[in-house]
Amino acid sequence: MAIHIQTPLVESDAFSTPASRLWLKLEALQPSGSFKLRGVGHACAVHAQRGARRLLSSSGGNAGLAVAHAGRRLGLPVLVVVPETTLEWPQALMRRQGAQVVVHGASWMEANEHLMALRQPSDAFIHPFDDPLLWDGHASLITEAAAQGPKPDAVVLSVGGGGLMAGVLQGMHAVGWADVPLVAVETVGAASLHAAVAAGQPVTLDGITSVATSLGARRVSDRAFQWTREHEVISVTVSDAEAVQACLDVAREHRLIVEPACGAAVAAATQRAVPLLRDAANVLVVLCGGACTTYEDLQRLARAVPTDGNVPAADTAERP
Ligand SMILES: *Cc1c(COP(=O)(O)O)cnc(C)c1O
Repeated sequence: MAIHIQTPLVESDAFSTPASRLWLKLEALQPSGSFKLRGVGHACAVHAQRGARRLLSSSGGNAGLAVAHAGRRLGLPVLVVVPETTLEWPQALMRRQGAQVVVHGASWMEANEHLMALRQPSDAFIHPFDDPLLWDGHASLITEAAAQGPKPDAVVLSVGGGGLMAGVLQGMHAVGWADVPLVAVETVGAASLHAAVAAGQPVTLDGITSVATSLGARRVSDRAFQWTREHEVISVTVSDAEAVQACLDVAREHRLIVEPACGAAVAAATQRAVPLLRDAANVLVVLCGGACTTYEDLQRLARAVPTDGNVPAADTAERP
């Protein structure tokens, strides 16, 4: 039995135009609140089968939450070490699943080092985005979508470290969608894939300056970058303000709360940020979700994030 659930694929009347129908794959409905449960659930199940006695994560976000859910389902203890900057709300959600949450260090690096020092030989460490087991699990999202709706003319998703992207592309190639372009969306302050595509190789950003914290990987995985050489991937950036506004649009139109990390993809899709999206008859958007932002957080962010020229405008990058 899979740990993730099958999610609905809904046609969005609100976000469609007469020329272009927009389909939302509702990963926000996963029990842990995001698509991460697909890959993480699969990885944890495989490790449990191989004899792992405990599951480890150093993510204070949706990856940690997914490990906490998977551990409870598998009957395995979960240890999550997070830095002091981690929000209270995801910590509470992880503890609710029975995970042991240890707060250590000022940055993710220190938290991760502390976790590695506590690591036992029978523990399984679950990476948030760079692991073939995760991609296998994420790929199920496309297998499902292919059975639920039409073959799309474009797929739109958000990119952090590129685990979702690697899994979705793997799934697309498995179901015969190798010719469907992928629009890969990041916020301006978390654009590690965009920087890698511009540089022609993965690069490490100096820092993250975006409210879309779940996109805050300073470097994408090598596999995610490699995919840009093997598939038509169009890298696009949107502003934080656009991502937050898209979250409020999703809340109003579809009655779902998602993180700015997810709003980024919705913003690019609804704005038809690249010419390709303007005449794509069917566009599949991965509504990747995220449980770390409350509705109150979104309203606060909408007031705090500047909507004037302070945030760089959407960059509509050329196709590679
Ligand atoms: C993890 C996450 C992402 C980014 O996924 P990657 O696999 O790191 O690219 C996007 N949105 C949400 C809500 C996430 O939790």
